Amino acid sequence: MTTPTSVREATKDIPVVGHSNVVVVGGGPAGLSAAVSAARNGVSVTLLERYPYLGGLASGGMVLVLDDMHNDLEITVQGLGMEIIERMQKWGLAVVPPEADRQPDVRQTEAMWQKWSRWNLFDFHTRSTPHPIIFAAAFDPDGFKRAANDMVGEAGVNLRLHSWFSSAIVEEGAIKGVIVESKEGRQAILADVVVDATGDLDVAASAGAPFSEGSFIVTTVSRMGGVDTDAAERFQYGQPERFAEVDREAKRIIGGCWQYWWLKTPLPGVVWCNCPHMTGFNGLKVDDLTAAEFEGRRRMAALLDFARKNVPGFENAYVVDFAPQTGVRQTRLLEGDYVVTKQDVMKRVYFEDSVCRGRDYYTPYRALLPKNVDQLLVAGRHYSATSSAQKLSREIPPCMAQGEAVGVAAALALDAGVNVRDVDARQIQKKMRAQGADPGDRPSDNAMMLEAAE
Ligand SMILES: Cc1cc2nc3c(=O)[nH]c(=O)nc-3n(C[C@H](O)[C@H](O)[C@H](O)COP(=O)(O)OP(=O)(O)OC[C@H]3O[C@@H](n4cnc5c(N)ncnc54)[C@H](O)[C@@H]3O)c2cc1C
Repeated sequence: MTTPTSVREATKDIPVVGHSNVVVVGGGPAGLSAAVSAARNGVSVTLLERYPYLGGLASGGMVLVLDDMHNDLEITVQGLGMEIIERMQKWGLAVVPPEADRQPDVRQTEAMWQKWSRWNLFDFHTRSTPHPIIFAAAFDPDGFKRAANDMVGEAGVNLRLHSWFSSAIVEEGAIKGVIVESKEGRQAILADVVVDATGDLDVAASAGAPFSEGSFIVTTVSRMGGVDTDAAERFQYGQPERFAEVDREAKRIIGGCWQYWWLKTPLPGVVWCNCPHMTGFNGLKVDDLTAAEFEGRRRMAALLDFARKNVPGFENAYVVDFAPQTGVRQTRLLEGDYVVTKQDVMKRVYFEDSVCRGRDYYTPYRALLPKNVDQLLVAGRHYSATSSAQKLSREIPPCMAQGEAVGVAAALALDAGVNVRDVDARQIQKKMRAQGADPGDRPSDNAMMLEAAE
């Protein structure tokens, strides 16, 4: 008997289990920020997340550094990004270089490099070495989950974990809600405005918005414990030639990583391994995601074996955990009302309708608005950008800033009874400022005005 190529799903009525002014799909950095921001602006919010925790790649992907939020000495993201850092700092679960270590006269010295580089708290976009030490935070993934829970709870967001988005409910060109899959079966949640913060553009794609498909390296992040980091650093700086030799071999085993394959975390003796870099895996394909898990663990097991025998400080190292979420950096990208280009990011092109910033670039409101679908907003790593632009502008703090901005936009639209597309970006800028965020409405000295960039 031949296997059929498709089966027909029986149509049936789906129970409606809720209605909120705003439904946010995806509880990662962008989604939790959108939910908190909208709720703090007085509208009812439901936040849907497939996993049993908040934070997305920041916590479940164990990404561990909040960066891309500075322009020289200025902190550009502010708002909810800063708030979550401050909350984690109070528990000793976020580490930031003090202001004195970031001053122009000391930040590029060898002493500062030796103090902070193994925390990854430096500006890797700068070509000169040693790279300058900047404002950024190394944090603990469970600290992020705890702070996110507190923020969402305090804001009165209706949080539904264990809920997989399945399809968008669209009528006459406007999104009316979403259908989720859970242990309770299929359920519908209706909304006046929906925010897609799934990172993979699941909602907008299902609703019929145009998008492109990009790809980037995939990583199974892990942590090792039992590491004497002081001994490892003494080896690095005390025996530079032997270190270079051993490090080269470690990197050959890993098969692709950034400058450092191990970095410090706020937990003593526990290091973060943001590697391996694996290519050829599509983050939307089950077979690829499955294969990536096996490949990543295989390479890291070989690395642990090598490190125990060859890297001083790693003699008693062991695997603490692998991230529960595969480290997928890029999949679908929205083709919204404006598509941000690499040039826009690199040249710091300023837009009149900028509603948030990254390190020194500006995101126009139009890049968060899908074409063809009304009452839908998008925030996070799948925002409307080219593949090369997204690679430079996908870090956690700018994604949180996008979330904060669309939360404000949704609340403004609901207050005024207008379509989200018709919200005046100047009103979003004003509200963002009022709640302590930087919407990018005041271009910095090195920003490029749009006329000049064209
Ligand atoms: C290995 C790796 C290392 C990185 N290193 C850094 C770093 O050091 N610093 C930094 O700032 N950034 C780093 N990044 C980038 C950063 O982590 C992401 O770009 C950022 O987390 C994007 O936030 P987001 O909210 O848009 O998406 P995500 O973090 O992907 O969150 C999306 C959320 O939506 C949920 N979701 C998805 N689909 C569904 C569905 N169908 N139904 C319900 N829920 C759903 C997910 O579970 C998740 O919670 C790294 C990324 C990777 C992969």
